[in-house]
Parts: sequence; C-alpha cells; structure tokens
Amino acid sequence: MMPKHNFCAGPAKLPDVVFQQASKAVVNYNESGLSILEISHRSNAFTVIIEEARALVLELLGLNTKDYVALFLHGGASAQFHQIPFNFLSKRAGYLNTGVWSQKAIHEARFFGEIVDLGSSNDQHFSYIPEKIIQNRIDLDYIHYTSNNTIYGTQIKNFPEQKVPVVVDMSSDIFSRSLDFSQFQLIYAGAQKNIGAAGTTLVIINRKAFSQANRKIPSLLNYDYLIQKESLANTPTVFSIYVSLLNLRWLKAQGGIKSVEKRNEVKANLLYNYLDASNLFTPLVKKNSRSNMNITFALNKPDLTSDFDRFLEHHNIIGLKGHRSVGDYRASLYNALELDSVKVLVSCLQQFEENYEN
Ligand code: PLP
Repeated sequence: MMPKHNFCAGPAKLPDVVFQQASKAVVNYNESGLSILEISHRSNAFTVIIEEARALVLELLGLNTKDYVALFLHGGASAQFHQIPFNFLSKRAGYLNTGVWSQKAIHEARFFGEIVDLGSSNDQHFSYIPEKIIQNRIDLDYIHYTSNNTIYGTQIKNFPEQKVPVVVDMSSDIFSRSLDFSQFQLIYAGAQKNIGAAGTTLVIINRKAFSQANRKIPSLLNYDYLIQKESLANTPTVFSIYVSLLNLRWLKAQGGIKSVEKRNEVKANLLYNYLDASNLFTPLVKKNSRSNMNITFALNKPDLTSDFDRFLEHHNIIGLKGHRSVGDYRASLYNALELDSVKVLVSCLQQFEENYEN
C-alpha cells in the first residue's frame, strides 16, 4: 500500500513507533499475556504507566512538581470549558476571543459569572491574533486564552504579562514549541493531536494559584478531589493514557520540545513559503499570527475544487479539507508528521498549479 500523508486536524498522526508499540500492547502488554485493554486501572502495571506519564508531562514542559500537577481526565478539552469556571469563576473572568473554541469556552463560562472581553479578531474572520490584549486587570478571577486556533490557523506568539492566574487551552499546540510554561497556572488539552489517542484530556494545574469559587462542586468536576485521587477518581481511559505515555517517551527521545520545535518550523516554513509565492493558493492568516501546527489556505479558483480534491486523493494526501465551519483547506503539521509528507504536499501543490497554468 502506498503511504498516506495524513494532515488531519485531530485525531491526528502519531509517530509510527507509537502505533507499533500500541498495537503490540493491545495483543500482549509487556509480555504479560494480557492486553492493555483488559488490565485493571488499579493494578501495579497501570499505576506505573500513569505515574510515568504524569511525571513526563511536567518534565517535558519544564514545570516543577512542587507547584504543578498533571491530571489525565475525561470529557475532552470541551469539558474544561465548564469545569474551569465551575471551580474558579466567582465574579468575573477575562477571555480572549480568537474563534470557535474560545467562543465555546466563553459560552460555558457565562453560566458561572461575568465575562470580560480581552480582545477579539472577529472583525476579520479570526485571521489574526489581536495585538492589543487587555492587561493587568486585577479584578478578574483568571484569564483564558486559546493558544492555537485549530480552525483558523492562528497562534498566540507572545503572552502578555498578567496579574491574575492565566488559563490556556493548548489543545492543538501543546508540546510543539518552547515557552516559559510557568507563566500559566492551568493548561489543558485534548489528547488527540500532539499527546496521544483520543479519549483522555490533559490538565496541568498550579492549584495554589487559584481561589476556589464559593459553590458546591460535584466530585468529578472538583480539581481538589481529582488531585487528591491522583487522576484515579474513577476508571481512567487506560488505553489513551498508555498511548500518551508512548508518545511522551518518543518526544523525550527526540530531544524534547526544543528539538521538535525546530523541525516544526522547518515543516511550516516550507509550506508557507510556497503558499506565499503561489498564484493559485493563498494563505489565510496574517504573517505574525500564523500557526506552525495548522496552516489554512484558499484555492483562488473555486471552480477547480473538485479537480483539486481528486488530485489530492490520487496522491494519498488525507485530511486537507478545512473545518466544516469555514471551508477552504487546512494542513495540520503536528509533531509526528514527517517532513517528507510536507515535501510531498508542496510538490503536489506545485504540480497542480503548473498543470492549471498550462
Ligand atoms: N480547543 C481546541 C483549540 C480544539 O482544537 C478542540 C478540538 O479540536 C477543542 C478545544 C475541543 O476538544 P475536544 O474535542 O477534546 O473536546
């Protein structure tokens, strides 16, 4: 079978070695004669897995274990949209509106308190990150950003200093670039892009930084309870957490975030440089807001859409359709996507453009 080049936005490509190790574990985990799918989450075998995964998360992000804990929870990143305000929104919180995912987070937070708009790029279809983000308000319980906007292909490059706890939805760029992660007090992300298999949600929290809202919180939504239970309050997503561990080990073996960041820049520059020079395709995001993870672009001749889609299929290029809410095209270049796949994509785009010109 010809190799597929998988540009899906998530669930997305993982490293081949992770696929191989995960498949083996489904059949016979660690030569135990049991499948990873049938081991107890209370067994020693799983305790070792989740503890290594939680520790690796903090190690790779350079966060200290005195202040931060890593939890593997349920419900996807979307469950954090309500869990965060449920716990920490007493009166008002500030949200930056950079598109669909921020808006969903804002919608859920409004059930719990007042939302202050820190800035928005709604006026230009979320094609940029607002330059002026409201800063230094001390009357907010916390501030919320979406670091990478998967649908539009924008990414916050510099996080302004703030005087209250900062919460970040990093679903689509966690582990892809180096930042001072200690400037954030809560980071969350669904697993299905740069972490592992869909199913688990990673939450990294510096609990002491937040004041608890004065309301009763059901146990499974209460961070204090989840921290106390060390991510095992109820049956966790065993397989998804195991795949996350394999992927985190892979990331460490690559030299950590700094080294995949360099590769991610090379991959993204290759595609952006071509798109900037092309007459047939146009990148959709302003230069200083461009994401290295999700690259969105338009085909300037909409009447060529069917031809182009067939051409992509013929060349085994998968998952290039833009999000259903915006259309156009989107190439997702997460950590595991090989440079070779980007080279294949660029050469296909070039070939299609040449065919069209001739
Ligand atoms: N936030 C961002 C930035 C996303 O890209 C997504 C999904 O793609 C979500 C939140 C929702 O994640 P989930 O499906 O895990 O709830």
